[in-house]
Formats: sequence, C-alpha cells, structure tokens
Amino acid sequence: MNARAHIAAAFDPLHYRTDFPLLARSVHGKPLIYFDNANTAQKPQSVIESVDRFYRETNANVARAMHALGEEATSAYEATRDKLARFINAPAREEVIFTSGTTQSINLVAYSYALPRLQPGDEILVTTMEHHANIVPWQLVCERTGAKLKVAPITQSGELIVDRFIELLTPSVKLAAVTHVSNVLGTINPMRELAKACRTRDIPLLVDGSQAAPHLTIDVQALGCDFYALTGHKLFGPTGTGALWARRELLEAMPPFFGGGEMIKTVTFEKTTFADLPAKFEAGTPNIAGFVGLGAAIDYVNAIGRDRIQTYERELLDYATTAFKSVPGLRLFGEAPHKAAVLAFLIDGVHAHDLAMLLDHEGIAVRSGHHCAHPLMQFYGVPATLRASLAFYNTRDEVDRFIAALTRVRKLLA
Ligand code: PLP
Repeated sequence: MNARAHIAAAFDPLHYRTDFPLLARSVHGKPLIYFDNANTAQKPQSVIESVDRFYRETNANVARAMHALGEEATSAYEATRDKLARFINAPAREEVIFTSGTTQSINLVAYSYALPRLQPGDEILVTTMEHHANIVPWQLVCERTGAKLKVAPITQSGELIVDRFIELLTPSVKLAAVTHVSNVLGTINPMRELAKACRTRDIPLLVDGSQAAPHLTIDVQALGCDFYALTGHKLFGPTGTGALWARRELLEAMPPFFGGGEMIKTVTFEKTTFADLPAKFEAGTPNIAGFVGLGAAIDYVNAIGRDRIQTYERELLDYATTAFKSVPGLRLFGEAPHKAAVLAFLIDGVHAHDLAMLLDHEGIAVRSGHHCAHPLMQFYGVPATLRASLAFYNTRDEVDRFIAALTRVRKLLA
C-alpha cells in the first residue's frame, strides 16, 4: 500500500458521520443520502452546541459593551478571526474582514475597490466557469463605469485554458476574478500560476474560495492572490457567515462598503473618520453567534486534518466517477484531472428536475438546475444538470446506493 492509500484507508467516514446529527435522519422513510454539500454543508454537533451555548451563556453585543458578557462575546467572536486567519494563512488577522458570505465579500470588492477605479475602456477578467456571485457584481460596476467584462474560456472537459487567460491579461484589465474550485465542474484552478501571471502585470486577482474552503488547504500567501472570498456555511459552519481576506494596502486604500455603527472613529455632521481594519468594513451588529459557530467549524476541520480530508475525498471521487460512468447514457460535466468531489451529470432523455424529484423520494438530496452558473450551462448547451457534491462524511456505500437508486428511477422515466 502506498502512503496515499494508507492515509485514505485510515480515514473512517463513519466515525465522523456520527458527529452530524442531521445525517442520521430519514427522508420519505429512507435513510438520507446527502449529496448536496456544494450547496450547503451539514453542521457537526460541536458547531450546533457552540451556537446554542453562546445564546445560553454569553449573548451580548460585540465591541461596545462595558460589561463581562460583552467582553466574553467579543473575545469569542474575535477568536474566530484568529482561527480564520490561520486557516487561510493570512499574514495578519486585521486583513480578515467578516462578511455574510462570499456574495457579500465579492460585492465589497466590486463596490469599494473596483467601482472607484474603473473607467470606460477598462476590463474585468473572469472565466466561463464562474458562479453568478463572481459575475453579476462585476457587471453591475461595469454598467456604472463603462468598463467591460471579459471572459477566459474553458475546455469541454471543464479546464481553464490557462494560455488564453494569460493572453487576455491585457493592460486594460484592472482586476481578474476566478473561482478556486468550480461549484459545477469541481475543477481546481491552477491559482498560483494565474496569480503569478496577474502579479507580473500588476493586475489584482480575486479568488472565489467558496468551494475550495471545505476541500483544500488554503494558503493565501502561497497562492499569491490579492483578495480571497469564502463562505462559512459550506465549511460546516452557520449560514450568514463568511470572510474576505485582502492585502492590507488594498484594504487601507478602499473606502468602506457599508456605513453605520462600529466602523467609525469619529462622527460629526460635517465629517466622519473611519475605524482601523477590520472594523472599517464591519458596520453594524454582525452574526455574532454564527461566527462563534464558524470558529467551532474551523476547529472541527482542523482536528480531522485537511490533508486527510483531501486524500479521502479524492479516493471517494475516483470511486464515484467510475460508478457514475458505469450508468448507461450518463454524461459527466467536468473531468479535469485536478478536481474536487463534485459530479455534475445528465442522463440521456431525462429531465434533470424529474430525476432529482424521484431521487428525493429515495431519500437522496442532489441539486438540479443551473447551479447559479447560467453562462456555464450555455457553454455546454444544456438548461440544467444534476449535481452530486460529496463531503468527507459521505461513503462508498452511499455512492453504491445512489447508483442503485438512479438505475431504478430512470426506468420509471424511460
Ligand atoms: N461562489 C461559488 C463558487 C459558490 O459555489 C457559491 C455558492 O454556491 C457562491 C460563490 C456564493 O456563496 P454564498 O451564497 O454563500 O454567498
């Protein structure tokens, strides 16, 4: 057995499954198979308990209360900033801005960084495989400034054509925005190479890390990017939590996105001065309990070990890919050699939604639709696909039961 196989063999997903209460439930009388992790991940008991405990024992607002509860709440909330900074290897905790998720993180960059800088003739470079969250905010600021969106192409197998991406990095490009891992294809983009190409041309690079955070070890310094956006609920944490990491000099040069309490130094009717990082970008009362829960989620993932998660998921993906390909008439979307455990597919002559509904009756949760990636669906010439997205708590046995159910229900639709 080689070293990689040994780590995978030592990883017991059943051991971790018991940490996730929801995975024990049944749906339509069948044991749940939850294959919709790219949409949102389930939460371990430790995360649920940390949120519950916060409301039972600590609840107070952060940063403004001069009492013990306020201090405890603030330190629990700020502890997550330290954990997140370490989780992505940020050079400084102040560079981690809490947001409600990737969507808000990208909008923050669109409105605070891009909007004031863009001029007619400028361009923003994205790729064909972006989620709407990494397309629409750029379109909105382009409309207001006369700038244009430019799109780097992908291959049929779902890989970014890196040479074309680099060719498209012309002097008119003022920002590039690329997903680290595609939410539909699973493709892991070669971010270091892209970042290097951007850096040599002085073009800032934003990385959409929504789908990377639950699967990969993230090191923003090694990647060499300028902005990194992520979402907490896909990382086994509560909904309404996320973060933007950016290089300090960029954040310091950017005006605030939201105005309000907590983000100021002084306010008069004539002039307001703003707080230091990160508070400058965190107006109003945040999702305090949610961030406490996100801290617990990071602790949980760290305790398992991201290398072990990655190795196990790769092995599970290989197993699932072979199983999916054995189904007659099944077309897989996204066959990059370097990919995360996401399988988008269609079955000849069967509508994605019909299949998803029948699978639901078998207790199986998969997503069907455009996956917030209309342009990618247009690229493949399909209105929708099904998507099975796996996590470290999924098993080979679930893959087998999924394939058996798929074979059963497609007969009903034939
Ligand atoms: N980017 C990608 C690649 C995603 O998969 C998602 C969510 O599905 C988002 C952005 C948006 O994340 P959120 O809805 O948590 O803001």
